[in-house]
Amino acid sequence: MQTIVVTVLLLLIGDFLSTFFYHVPEHVFGKFHTLVHHGKNRSFIHYAVLSHNPLVILDGFLGALPYFIFVPYAWKISPTGTILALILGEFHVIWRHASIINWQTPKAIAFCCQLLFITTPERHLQHHQNAQLAYGDIFTFYHVPAIAWMQFLLNLKQKYRQISNR
Ligand SMILES: [Zn+2]
Ligand SMILES: [Zn+2]
Repeated sequence: MQTIVVTVLLLLIGDFLSTFFYHVPEHVFGKFHTLVHHGKNRSFIHYAVLSHNPLVILDGFLGALPYFIFVPYAWKISPTGTILALILGEFHVIWRHASIINWQTPKAIAFCCQLLFITTPERHLQHHQNAQLAYGDIFTFYHVPAIAWMQFLLNLKQKYRQISNR
């Protein structure tokens, strides 16, 4: 039981921090993630950790960092749950980019994902095509607050520009 709680919590917290403190701000203020993650002509290999492009590795590393912050704490409660979370997180990164190799999620799996609010490759592809859509790398329920957060940061950016243009 403890194992499952630790696994789910690590993934929940990791995706939360990654979405709200890296992914959304990157879309508002940065160019880095957009270039690397949303660029055209991306092959599946580019997304995989095997990529030799240091920028892709850095983007992946920054995005993955939030998953590692709580590892020392989680480890004390359940090493198995911690390892499981990292394996599942890693697996999900590769799987959600499988659309590039024309992967189609079987209906039964897609249905389970919908029940559990888990992002499918089809849903994540929407985000690659339109950066306003489908936030939440792992969990779909982060999308709505992520858009609100994005709007807030965009307003902030605009206000800052107005002030600095005076
Ligand atoms: Zn992606
Ligand atoms: Zn993005």
